[in-house]
Amino acid sequence: MNIDKELQKGHFVIGKCTKCGKKVWPPMDFCDECFGEVIMEDGPQTGRITEFAKKENEYFCIIEMTEEIRIMGKLLSGTPKNNQLVKITQCGIVENNYFFEFSLLESANM
Ligand SMILES: [Zn+2]
Repeated sequence: MNIDKELQKGHFVIGKCTKCGKKVWPPMDFCDECFGEVIMEDGPQTGRITEFAKKENEYFCIIEMTEEIRIMGKLLSGTPKNNQLVKITQCGIVENNYFFEFSLLESANM
């Protein structure tokens, strides 16, 4: 399985169990539910902010894409709010950690 390779190329992919269909994130070779084999599929491109924190002048957010998939990354611009919709603009691997950048999809003054 080459999920890491795809992520490094900036293509957000996730794992999917061939047996029970569970979406698997972070990537694993086998499903943690039924131990079925996991294959790669395109990941969702949007999600909602569930938590965020400001560090120096940057915002870091936790994005919930589905019940199983949460990712953490940096917001490129704007001010985050809980439940706000964002899309992935960049992904990759930096120092062995998955890394994402998001941009806001809704107006910031809602
Ligand atoms: Zn499974």
